[in-house]
Amino acid sequence: MTAPPEKIRCDACPVMCYIAPGQTGACDRYVNDAGRIVRTDPVLLLSETLASGGKVIPFAAATWTDGLVPDDTTVTGIGAGTTYPDYKPAPFIVSQQIDGADMVTVVTEAIFSYCGVKVKIDTDRHLGPEGATVRHQGEPVGHVTTAEYGSQMLSLGGVHHLTGGGKAEGRLTCAALLALCNGDAVDLSIDGGSTVTVQAGQPPVVDGTPERRMRVGCGSATIGMFASQWKGLVDEVVVVDDHITGVLTEHQAGKCLDMPPSGLRVRGRKSTPGRYFQVANPGTGWGGTDVTDPLTIVESFDPKVSRPGMRLLFVSTTGDHFAWYVLDDALVPRPAPMPAEVMKVVERIGENCEPSVATVLFVAGAGGSLRAGVTENPVLLTRSIKDLLTRVTVGGAPAYVWPGGGITVMVDVARMPERSFGWVPTPAIVAPIEFTMRADDYARLGGHVDRVVPVAEAVARAQAKVLAWDAGNPWPIEPAAAR
Ligand code: SF4
Repeated sequence: MTAPPEKIRCDACPVMCYIAPGQTGACDRYVNDAGRIVRTDPVLLLSETLASGGKVIPFAAATWTDGLVPDDTTVTGIGAGTTYPDYKPAPFIVSQQIDGADMVTVVTEAIFSYCGVKVKIDTDRHLGPEGATVRHQGEPVGHVTTAEYGSQMLSLGGVHHLTGGGKAEGRLTCAALLALCNGDAVDLSIDGGSTVTVQAGQPPVVDGTPERRMRVGCGSATIGMFASQWKGLVDEVVVVDDHITGVLTEHQAGKCLDMPPSGLRVRGRKSTPGRYFQVANPGTGWGGTDVTDPLTIVESFDPKVSRPGMRLLFVSTTGDHFAWYVLDDALVPRPAPMPAEVMKVVERIGENCEPSVATVLFVAGAGGSLRAGVTENPVLLTRSIKDLLTRVTVGGAPAYVWPGGGITVMVDVARMPERSFGWVPTPAIVAPIEFTMRADDYARLGGHVDRVVPVAEAVARAQAKVLAWDAGNPWPIEPAAAR
């Protein structure tokens, strides 16, 4: 099929859009600008000067000339463009002198088919069984993975959802990943579980309720932390928790404080004294269980041990749920007003909880052909990274590079500039990546040294904008440690 003459072809990804003048391609990242295919966003530079409250020269190609780009400015892959179809050198390969060392930074926007996000949701609430499918707008986009201490974890995206299922599955997986990586809120539903709204850095919303507190610890840990503050005020405390429910007087903490046994027995499977598993089913009630009435987890009171008038506190691991009872003459717990001193300790549990947030880590495999944009001998780039001679950043943020083969990177999207991510309809996620190393190391690994230009020259050729460096991130263009 021949394209209409006025349209030109973009070859920045395998979709190969024909783009009419003034129009953008399918991903909105490239435009036909008077017969030239041009990236729609400027390449992003980050400046330490701006971060520390200083000023930089207003950014325009005409005014930003050699000598005016300070050493504390680094080029990111954001807006740089891609190297597809892979034999092309990276869009920007820039040199800078840092502390007397000649450094090179290679930046590109990478098209990641192998990518996904790990989402950490600070909540006790049971979001769904481990391994359950996570859906976005009805399509499977990931699964529930192993819970962590005080957090539920989701694994979303990945090549099987992006390309191994139906068209809608791939499209919605890509849309969910893009939104999460760009800091937008995404609604997810979990088979056999809850609905949750997730946004990086924001409190998660579980079944319509914003989560406020991350638990202070498991039920056993909560007993240990507050046991001495309860002594003298209570005769028994049960900390309800889906993992380990704690019973104060039976727990080692109560024993060490010489608290007499209460005779209260909870349901569930005893792990060790005062520590019980499976007192109820997982749920969104007390302490991540389905408990709404704490007395339902009480199996019995031992008439030989329990005494009328005993004071019982039931509390959850966040202090969100609490109840106070006094045993009557028949050893039946009766609700009673909670003493102010006990309430203070309950409030202290809440005070010691950290705020609940959702964290989104982008994970992607950069070990494929994009390495050819950096070097003619791609495996040398991988080795250089493993040897710590080349530093990898993603939109300027530090990336954890997984050990083993390939270049599998993981980055906290909240440490990246806003809206750093894009997409292409293959479908895949587009993310910036930067490789920084000494110039002599770059030559040694077979880099495209003939394409290295001083940073000012590269910037003068491009549309660019400069933002303040995130001072919480380590500066990437420092010479590697002396060898
Ligand atoms: S989807 Fe975007 S990058 Fe791919 S060919 Fe079309 S305009 Fe170019």
